[in-house]
Amino acid sequence: MSQTEIRSSFFTEEHDALRASIRAFVEKELTPHAEEWEAAGNFPDDVFPKLGKNGFLGLSYPQEVGGQGGDYLSTLVLKEEMARCGSGGLAMAVAVQTDMATPPIHKFGTKEQVDEYLKPAIQGTKIACLGITEPDAGSDVANIQTTGVKDGSDWVINGRKIFITNGCRAHFCTLVVRTDQPSGYNGFSLFLVPTDTPGWQVTRRLDKLGMHSSDTAEIVMEDMRLPAGALLGEEGKGFQQIMWELQGERLVGVAGSIAGAQLTFERCLAYAHERTTFGKPIGKHQVIAHKLATMASEIEAARRLVYDAAWKFNNGAYPVKEISMAKLYGAQVACRVANEAMQIFGGASYMMEVPIQRGWRDSRLIRIGGGTDEVMREIIAKLKGL
Ligand SMILES: Cc1cc2nc3c(=O)[nH]c(=O)nc-3n(C[C@H](O)[C@H](O)[C@H](O)COP(=O)(O)OP(=O)(O)OC[C@H]3O[C@@H](n4cnc5c(N)ncnc54)[C@H](O)[C@@H]3O)c2cc1C
Repeated sequence: MSQTEIRSSFFTEEHDALRASIRAFVEKELTPHAEEWEAAGNFPDDVFPKLGKNGFLGLSYPQEVGGQGGDYLSTLVLKEEMARCGSGGLAMAVAVQTDMATPPIHKFGTKEQVDEYLKPAIQGTKIACLGITEPDAGSDVANIQTTGVKDGSDWVINGRKIFITNGCRAHFCTLVVRTDQPSGYNGFSLFLVPTDTPGWQVTRRLDKLGMHSSDTAEIVMEDMRLPAGALLGEEGKGFQQIMWELQGERLVGVAGSIAGAQLTFERCLAYAHERTTFGKPIGKHQVIAHKLATMASEIEAARRLVYDAAWKFNNGAYPVKEISMAKLYGAQVACRVANEAMQIFGGASYMMEVPIQRGWRDSRLIRIGGGTDEVMREIIAKLKGL
């Protein structure tokens, strides 16, 4: 897709220039390796410092902390262009670094925490993960059972986290812990944990349906001792802080998925011209043409919901309803597009050598990760007074 096609009223010429430079980097440094990294089930750690050197890991962070000082839409541009690398897992791993594990450090962290974690994460010299989910606490975040108990000025942490992206390779984790049993939503706190802390253990690398190049860990913490300075933000405010984090996570997650759907659509369009049946290109069969028309329209509608929510976020609003709607609708569109693409490519779609199957496998995650469709509907319904 050309620059003019992708340009909407939300973006400026600076965003266009940024898009062009990320696209050139992705095409040169990432796309040629996507197949190999997907097959290997991993990508090299040095992708992070390479992205960092180009400033791509800190686009919307201020210059004082080593960022590029751009607006929130800059980070959406990164997510959209990363989706074009052909490896959803790689794009997701980078999104965890830039927009999930690190925003709470910028928003709630001390100068020492910014120096120790955020600045190296922006440079790509430290890899980050985010530890919310547990075996018995996914959608129900308030059921987190990992405990943090004060011992003198230290904290002693015990518990288990699951499905943690980057967890096998991370240098630190932004961790959600229950620090006070009877206090309900005010009984949680965030911590910054170096993964070489005694008591932190990656017990399993989980095998997944898709997103193969990203690692997903199960983590056990046994009598893990943290100093007082590991507490991130105010004690007891971890639930509210992580709900804030999840807004950005949902927005960038769905932005990437819609960009993945756009790539799938472009592949389908090209195939509709080139694949001939019954004496004409399949795109000249009205059923296929209309499928493509619907895909294009739904992608456009989903993208505009994301841009609108991101624009509001960027301008100081806390648009939970708009973000939830964008996540819900965009996730469904991404999956519908991937599913229709399987049909358009026919038998070829089922072959591992054709990337359409990967888009189908990878896209399914967005209806679950960072808050399921059902959780999005719950939020929207509550905000509508139900
Ligand atoms: C590949 C992958 C990567 C991930 N990366 C991370 C990560 O880096 N860090 C992290 O912390 N987590 C991560 N997650 C976890 C992810 O965010 C959770 O899986 C997700 O929030 C859903 O939680 P759950 O799996 O426990 O499902 P559950 O909460 O058990 O839900 C099961 C089903 O019940 C439905 N349901 C639950 N509650 C309700 C309700 N009140 N009303 C109606 N329906 C309901 C759900 O929508 C779902 O359909 C990752 C997950 C995957 C698969």
